[in-house]
Amino acid sequence: MSGIDALIRHLVATRTAPDAELLPLLDPDWLAAWPERRAAADAALMAAARAERRRVYGDTVFLRGLIEFTNYCSNDCYYCGIRASNRAAVRYRLDEAAILAAVETVVRAGLGTVVLQGGEDPLWTCGRLEALVREIRGAHPDLAITLSVGEHPAACYQALRAAGADRYLLREETADPRHYALLHPPHQQLATRLRALADLRAAGYQVGGGFMVGSPGQSPRELLADLRYLQQLRPEMIGIGPFLHHHETPFAAAPDGDLRLTLRLVALLRLLLPSALLPATTALATASEAGRVAGLNAGANVLMPNFTPPAVRADYSLYDNKSRADTIDADLAEIRRQVESAGCRIDFGRGDWRAAPEG
Ligand code: SAM
Repeated sequence: MSGIDALIRHLVATRTAPDAELLPLLDPDWLAAWPERRAAADAALMAAARAERRRVYGDTVFLRGLIEFTNYCSNDCYYCGIRASNRAAVRYRLDEAAILAAVETVVRAGLGTVVLQGGEDPLWTCGRLEALVREIRGAHPDLAITLSVGEHPAACYQALRAAGADRYLLREETADPRHYALLHPPHQQLATRLRALADLRAAGYQVGGGFMVGSPGQSPRELLADLRYLQQLRPEMIGIGPFLHHHETPFAAAPDGDLRLTLRLVALLRLLLPSALLPATTALATASEAGRVAGLNAGANVLMPNFTPPAVRADYSLYDNKSRADTIDADLAEIRRQVESAGCRIDFGRGDWRAAPEG
């Protein structure tokens, strides 16, 4: 293969590419050495990614109402500001009434999906989560319910699914065991994470995987392993964003992930897995004010406005300077502008995964 155009044609025709063709694109330094070639390659990749999004989803952008309902966490991921060992974190936990009230604001704003995300909070047991999901499902039969509450036994995933949850986000974070061990303490194992993803799939969820771009110890080889893992898992949703440092973690001094590389990966993922629901993530919006629009221009088709009650929102601090709007109305108004400026339109429906048409 020679040149980016040939690679794109190959990707669109086969949904894969040889390692030797992908590796240079995953190397921030390789293309940086040729700024003009890099700019041209990125422009071509992103145009192709937008065309694929248009083919499957018709330039619609789906909105998910995000509620970060607890920042208590028993896990100790070295990169994360709400890790158990961060004694400086100001902890909060919403109760059922507060979560249900936040769900009502999502529904009143007209969104078709709510996402409940939190740390691995021992007081939010599986049974308690199950009762919450059942109550939301009872009140809103058509609302898509997405959970993002970490690793649990298969029986728990099944119970939450039976209670009415539709989707589950659980990023693998990295598909390479050596890299996983660099990012997590020994009691957190990649095999457990991947098992959980398999359990979620078996329980009938639309599943979301993903990883951080530029996490400490990540090289093009690890990124390639991530792409290969996602090609094999074929998740309905893929969340990627730059790694961003948090000052109270072991990675306080680590450099943040590269924005351009993140956008290139969004585009590559759209070409590898054209049906994926791909958010322009909060981390992307934090890395750059133009991050959301850039994500949409790279082929993303999901935005996640934050409906966490303002009183606690600042405490869901995964990384420093996390982007947040003053009010939900301001965020939604901004989103409308951003979606329009990317030449897309908002779809307020549930935004379920769609199979790509043949061809
Ligand atoms: N506890 C659940 C779990 O582990 O899946 C959900 C919450 S967890 C905080 C959500 C995601 O935040 C993680 O999957 C991780 O990729 C991302 N995250 C955490 N710290 C981050 C950082 N410093 N920079 C970028 N993303 C980060």
